[in-house]
Amino acid sequence: MSSMSIDLHTHSSASDGALSPLELVREAAQLGISVLGLTDHDTLAGIPAAQEEARIVKIELVPGIEFSTEVGVSEIHILGYYVQESKVVNDLLLLLKNVRLERIILMIKKLNQLGIDLNPEDVLESSKNGVYGRPQVALALMRKGIVGTVEEAFQKYLAYGRPAYVPHYKLSPWEAISLIREAQGIPIYAHPGVSQRDDLIPSFAKAGLAGLEVFYPQHNEAQTERYLNIANSLSLLVTGGSDFHGEGKSSSTLGYPDLPQKYYEKFKKFALHLDVHKALG
Ligand code: AMP
Ligand code: FE
Ligand code: FE
Ligand code: ZN
Repeated sequence: MSSMSIDLHTHSSASDGALSPLELVREAAQLGISVLGLTDHDTLAGIPAAQEEARIVKIELVPGIEFSTEVGVSEIHILGYYVQESKVVNDLLLLLKNVRLERIILMIKKLNQLGIDLNPEDVLESSKNGVYGRPQVALALMRKGIVGTVEEAFQKYLAYGRPAYVPHYKLSPWEAISLIREAQGIPIYAHPGVSQRDDLIPSFAKAGLAGLEVFYPQHNEAQTERYLNIANSLSLLVTGGSDFHGEGKSSSTLGYPDLPQKYYEKFKKFALHLDVHKALG
C-alpha cells in the first residue's frame, strides 16, 4: 500500500460492523492506512474509542456517520463528516436508534409469520450498542442454520420487496443534508452508483450537499469517471472508501479503493474552512 492510504467509509460494532472501533483502527494502522473515516449507521457512539486508539497508533481518524434516507422507492445514503453533537442531533439519533429497534422486532414478527423460529434475543444479544440493522438479523438467521450466508438472508427475506422487509424511519435526503449542515458537518452522497438516482444530485447540491463518494468498491471505471465529472461540474468534493464491515460481513477490503490524496486535501481544506466559521461563531 502507498505511503498515504485513505479510506473514508467504514463501519464498527457501534452499528453493523464486526470489529470494535478500537480493533478497526488497529487493523487500519496495520494495513498502512493513514486516514480512516468511521461512518457507522445512525450513530456517533464509536467515535470516542476510535479517536483514542487513532492517537495511540498515530493515524488520522475522520469522525463520520451514515444516514439511510428515502425518496419514493429509492434508498439514498448520506454520509456526514465532522458532525457536532447537539441536542437536536442527539435527539434524532436516539429516535433513529429506537425506531431501528422496533423495526427489528417487526422483521422478526414477519419471519415468525413465515414459520421461521427466531426470537428477539437471538438478534439483540449480538450487538452491544443497540444500533441494529438487517445484517444482525441475517447473522442470527445464519447462526440458526436457516440460511447459509448473509447474502441469502437478504435475497430470501430482508431485501427491499422480500417478505420480511421493513422500511426505515422516513428521513429524506434533503432533511439529512440540512441536519448535517446545521451541525457544521460535511454532507456527502454515499455510493451514488448503488442508488442510481443521479437525477437528484443537482437538487441535493442546492440543498447543501458538499460532495460525492466517487471511489467505491462497487463503482466500475465508467461510473467513477461519470461521478468525477458530475462532481467537477457542480463544484462538489470527491471522497471515497471501502464501506468495510469486517471480514466475512461484506465483500469489501479495508483501504480499498484508496482515495487519491489530492481529493482528500480538498476535503480537508473544506473541513478547516468550516472550522474557522465555527471558531468565529
Ligand atoms: P439496514 O441498515 O437495516 O437498512 O441494513 C443495511 C445494511 O445491510 C447495509 O449498510 C449493508 O451493511 C447491509 N446490506 C445491504 N444489502 C446487503 C446484501 N445484499 N448483502 C449483505 N449485506 C447487505
Ligand atoms: Fe452497513
Ligand atoms: Fe451505505
Ligand atoms: Zn456504509
